[in-house]
Amino acid sequence: MKKKWLIGNWKMHGNLASNKALVGGILAAVPSLHEQVSIAVCPPFPYLYQLAELTRDTYLGFGAQNVSDHLQGAYTGETSPLMVKELGGSYAIIGHSERRQYQGENDGLMGRKALAAIDAGLIPVICVGETAEERDSGRTHEVLARQLDAAFGYIRTAHDKIILAYEPRWAIGTGIAATPEIVQSEHEFLRQRIAIRDKAFAAKLPIVYGGSVKSSNAASIFSMPDVDGGLIGSAALNAQEFVTIYGELL
Ligand code: 13P
Repeated sequence: MKKKWLIGNWKMHGNLASNKALVGGILAAVPSLHEQVSIAVCPPFPYLYQLAELTRDTYLGFGAQNVSDHLQGAYTGETSPLMVKELGGSYAIIGHSERRQYQGENDGLMGRKALAAIDAGLIPVICVGETAEERDSGRTHEVLARQLDAAFGYIRTAHDKIILAYEPRWAIGTGIAATPEIVQSEHEFLRQRIAIRDKAFAAKLPIVYGGSVKSSNAASIFSMPDVDGGLIGSAALNAQEFVTIYGELL
């Protein structure tokens, strides 16, 4: 079976007590690692150290929701991917649409951040996705291609050192996930686009889907051949939901 990924993006939620309860709930429900599925959660920055402690000697990985495009220096308010790595983190979500929307991040910055994450030894989870307006005006592929080329133009790495996430903006936080057919079709498009540069890399690159995944729709989305897992927002804040979604990948 092909390896799969489940990554929880906690966004700006949680506190010391609720994080502990959430991680405890996940670990209690899934006591051991299923080798074919990697599972991780991405808390807000102040809780990375807590997550390092809570997940020590467990199969549960963790990562950051963002990192700087620099490894060190006079960049007030930024966090180096090396710092995330030092704490034991494995992943960094890069270019999430909420950062594009609210923090003005662009394609070029996304590429530089992905590269910095790789340099630090983290696996970047590179997010791409179109808005409702872009989809409605038939520009989905143009947008995905632009975002993809910007990110991958910088990157030369092995397929197992990077994850691509398709997150259509209109499906994020709306409760309305893309249909399995749309997800499959866009994942296929992304894979083909990457295959233009490197066929073998594209065939093995993990592409996960994010946008209103929940226990009730995970099985149908995950059954699609080009879907290698999920990037989960609100459903990742509930241990039972998250663990049930995980079960759909096994
Ligand atoms: P929701 O699962 O809440 O729609 O969020 C998805 C997401 O943005 C994950 O990064």
